[in-house]
Amino acid sequence: MDMKVTGTLMQSYTICKRQVWLMAHQIIPDQEHPFIEMGRIIDDNSYDRDKKKLHFENVVIDLVRSDKDNFLVGEVKKSSKAEKSAKMQLLFYLYRLKQSGIIAKGQLFFPEERKRINVELTETNEKEILNAINEITDIIDREKAPDFVKIPYCKNCGYREFCMS
Ligand code: SF4
Repeated sequence: MDMKVTGTLMQSYTICKRQVWLMAHQIIPDQEHPFIEMGRIIDDNSYDRDKKKLHFENVVIDLVRSDKDNFLVGEVKKSSKAEKSAKMQLLFYLYRLKQSGIIAKGQLFFPEERKRINVELTETNEKEILNAINEITDIIDREKAPDFVKIPYCKNCGYREFCMS
């Protein structure tokens, strides 16, 4: 297992490979970008009654509830438009927990939409996560970032100024 891969990189992986490289190489996105600020506000205020953070290895999990043997980890997101990337991030956490001997289930929370989605690690999506980990590791190890290719997500991205200047 390559410890360079984080949940944030896994989330970016389904959106933009260039973003993966920029993040992994500590290039800081525009912190004043409205979508980054919105994420921070949601992160600070939503589902407070459940909120705890679990730190293990290089993983930080936003929300954890355990009830007897049921271990539930969750991720709070702004919008379900990026559901695939949020799901990959949560599956990555479930995979890492499994590697540490903890079998957990996951839930994605979209407080603005009052929506919750259950996420479970299966044999199929575990293979998908392993493939993604390998590809992310290859991207990080490149000397240069993948070339800029404009995609619809660019308008919401903190690296927009960086990529388009
Ligand atoms: S601005 Fe676009 S190309 Fe650049 S990192 Fe963001 S999503 Fe990727």
